[in-house]
Amino acid sequence: MTTLLNETAGASTGFAEPAPSALLLLGQGRDLASERGVECTGALPSPSDPDLVERARAARAALGERAFVLGHHYQRDEVIDFADVTGDSFKLAREAAARPDAEYVLFCGVHFMAESADILTSDAQQVVLPDLAAGCSMADMAEIGQVEEAWAVLQDVGIADDTVPVTYMNSSAAIKAFTGRHEGTVCTSSNAQVALRWAFDRVGGVDGTGKVLFLPDQHLGRNTAVLQLGLSLDDCVVYDPRKPRGGLTEQQLRDARMILWRGHCSVHGRFSVRNVEEIRAKVPGVTVMAHPECKHEVITAADEVGSTEYIIKALDAAEPGSSWAIGTELNLVRRLAKAHPDKQVHYLDSTVCFCSTMNRIDLPHLVWAMESLVEGRMVNRIVVDADDAHWARVALDQMLALPGI
Ligand code: SF4
Repeated sequence: MTTLLNETAGASTGFAEPAPSALLLLGQGRDLASERGVECTGALPSPSDPDLVERARAARAALGERAFVLGHHYQRDEVIDFADVTGDSFKLAREAAARPDAEYVLFCGVHFMAESADILTSDAQQVVLPDLAAGCSMADMAEIGQVEEAWAVLQDVGIADDTVPVTYMNSSAAIKAFTGRHEGTVCTSSNAQVALRWAFDRVGGVDGTGKVLFLPDQHLGRNTAVLQLGLSLDDCVVYDPRKPRGGLTEQQLRDARMILWRGHCSVHGRFSVRNVEEIRAKVPGVTVMAHPECKHEVITAADEVGSTEYIIKALDAAEPGSSWAIGTELNLVRRLAKAHPDKQVHYLDSTVCFCSTMNRIDLPHLVWAMESLVEGRMVNRIVVDADDAHWARVALDQMLALPGI
């Protein structure tokens, strides 16, 4: 469980109080039982304030070395302009840990990333998420209560002792802690193959009968198991937490090698085989490169598959004049196109596909957070409770100890 600290809590939010509802509207109320908080207190500057960039510069200068601003690759340009470092979620968390002198870590990304930064930084450092509505729909698809219930099902069926949990970085601190408690590991999209091999080795090897419970992204789990470890699609089952026993029979659970949580990324899950066919018809000779969070059929239709960092390096190394269609978040693809004017960089989907929660962090929120800190007011601090932080750290350290990491 994460605590959201706001010294202004209790003050007027400027929003009408939300009526009790199962659905929390963005920017109104908060849901402490989920990965995200969805409350933003305080008076935000107007996005049309002509002095906004100047205010950001002034606040950043006033904070100086006391603050470290991290920008995830999927953030808007107006935010990236103020980032001291850019990267994927794990790189950013490590960068924060490598800056122990920075009192404030402003994490321009989403909630689970700020949690990881809090886990990896010292107690003297305070992690701030400029907009608490910046959650992650994938991380929210695995709630700790559901995962504990699923583990109880595996125990009932008698297969828990032969199952190692592996969770993707894109999960809440509570899920990472669950993985640590059950002697599993965290993985990223760059090291999922090594992490899965390690996990299977703990229960008899890839060719044995042991299992992995992979959370929360079914696509990364399936793509890695089938395309990199040589398991078959029949070895994979999808566990649906909303159905009794995950919607699976005891026999299906016993026969499975990969028990994939029914979660996905709402951005990468949109890409389709049709997108691949259309871009190939439109741009002869195009190389299609997709992120492993895309569906299996998209990955098999693509020419290359790789993490965000892989995609960036591949474009850096590409021949001038070459054509690329990239299946990942649009802010990043647009920046890549701008950075490589000598190459043709296309977006794989013909319709707009930003990560809407990443986009919640905009310049007004960043200015508000920085100005609040300059005035000595802590806002939107992300704190993971000590027990979860300990066990999540165990799972993260296990990932760092994997061969070749
Ligand atoms: S791109 Fe997908 S996985 Fe990444 S933060 Fe957005 S919803 Fe989550």
